Amino acid sequence: MASEARIATSGVIVTTNPATGEVLAELASASAGDVHAAVLRAKAAQPQWQATAVSDRIAGLRRFQQRLNEQRDSVASLICREAGKPAAEALATEVLVVLDAAEFCIRHAHRFLRDQPLPHGNLAMKTKRGKLLREPYGVIGIVAPWNYPFSIPAIETLAALVTGNAVVLKPSEFTPLVGLELQRLLHAAGLDPDLMQVIVGEGPAGAALIESPVDKLIFTGSVATGKRVGEAAARRLLPVVLELGGKDPMIVLDDANLEIASSGAIWGAFMNCGQTCLSVERCYVHRSLYEPFLEACRTKIAKLRVGNGIDSEVEIGPMIHERQLQMVEGQVQDAIVHGARLLAGGKRLNELGPNFFAPTLLADVTTQMRLMKEETFGPVLPVAPFDSDEEAIRLANDSEFGLAASVWTRSRSRGEAMAAKIKAGTVMINDMISCFGIAEAPHGGFKQSGIGRTHGELGLQEMVQVKYVDVDLIPGIPKVWWFGYGKQYQQQMGGFIDFLFAASWGTRLKGALRSAGLLRRSNRV
Ligand code: NAD
Repeated sequence: MASEARIATSGVIVTTNPATGEVLAELASASAGDVHAAVLRAKAAQPQWQATAVSDRIAGLRRFQQRLNEQRDSVASLICREAGKPAAEALATEVLVVLDAAEFCIRHAHRFLRDQPLPHGNLAMKTKRGKLLREPYGVIGIVAPWNYPFSIPAIETLAALVTGNAVVLKPSEFTPLVGLELQRLLHAAGLDPDLMQVIVGEGPAGAALIESPVDKLIFTGSVATGKRVGEAAARRLLPVVLELGGKDPMIVLDDANLEIASSGAIWGAFMNCGQTCLSVERCYVHRSLYEPFLEACRTKIAKLRVGNGIDSEVEIGPMIHERQLQMVEGQVQDAIVHGARLLAGGKRLNELGPNFFAPTLLADVTTQMRLMKEETFGPVLPVAPFDSDEEAIRLANDSEFGLAASVWTRSRSRGEAMAAKIKAGTVMINDMISCFGIAEAPHGGFKQSGIGRTHGELGLQEMVQVKYVDVDLIPGIPKVWWFGYGKQYQQQMGGFIDFLFAASWGTRLKGALRSAGLLRRSNRV
């Protein structure tokens, strides 16, 4: 069995409940040798899995899906205790999303993995038949963050497994128990334990995974770590997908439904305590709606219930740890010093526990403030006015990030016209974040927000290597492009090219006549 017990100690990971500070577990941390050994076990188990019929792989995913559904409340409760988000939110944004991602793999794996005929256009190649095969890489390494500790690694793991890969997952050091829960559910569904192993550890364990013989790495985390991962992977030409940070803009046009847009804004900025890569990090509102929008947000924020998310009445839980709180506090203070108007929150809620920060509304923010440049990753909604659609697009694109964006309008065509001009991996019109819950939709960013895609068919595509297989249907005839060159051959080839591509039909006809002897050359070698 691949489990914690197999991991020799080289340190200890202490995982805590961010709402209370309670220690949940102390786990042995994997050494570089442990990581290497886990990958070798996965490598040994993978060929048999690759040879397993797709329908049997799918059956394993179905059993996993059923178990997860049966145990959804305990999984949501564990996510709440280790990551802080309300258990109800964990059901919606982690468990449900994973159940649906499993369904996507179950429904589409057969079609996706089927050999794909590749018809040839070139007349000279018509005697051949080509097809594309999709083969698993082997062992997929996954390095995951703490903010969606279940759904992010689970979606990637399911895509890797159904396409015939083995997986070695390093969850965040802040949420190892959730990673181990995913492993437990998959093993309980009958998967060979070596095909999906979790290694517990901090950054060095992730770095060791890159140095190990994994065949591809799917990394989700910050831009800073993503760059280090990209550099290390490049040294050994390890293919990587990088799912990195965001600074997503929300644009509220002058024809938007104010009531809906303000409710969307506070959910988009504060769900998971603002610790979502797709959360609203910048909100631009048309000047004609600006003050009423701020007032609507302020009124709604006052109704939000902050506390320990195990209480089902709670909407906003704690932040993950002190370092994250300090980053948020620093950005909020910087904004206030530079003239932002604080309309709600802006302070810690120490009376609730160690990591609570009040949902914060800031108006009149400007592009010079750190809050509008750096990823905040906390419960802050910074709002600024704009005067025209062009200005809104310029502001939205004024960022080194390009993960997602949203446009709020009553006009679908206007929303789609704006979407076409925004530089981001996803643009939603009249919603945000929920794209992550659409199993078919690719997830990934432009610019510094990353490289490659997870989720949906493009996510499956990242888990396979494409192999092109070509069969010659008349193997007894030498090819016209083989040796036996000469002046005549050159003229015949020129005629053939004219026949295919000349602008006038007359030249094409002459070309066809000139090329007629290509097949009957006497000087073939
Ligand atoms: P992080 O970069 O600090 O850590 C991510 C993971 O990388 C952790 O498991 C960590 O242990 C590991 N790690 C650290 N150093 C490493 C190294 N040198 N080599 C290999 N692995 C290493 O990020 P975080 O704080 O856990 O997560 C928050 C960040 O993740 C935010 O920036 C957020 O926007 C981003 N994120 C992006 C997406 C997305 O899909 N684009 C989704 C969720 C989170």
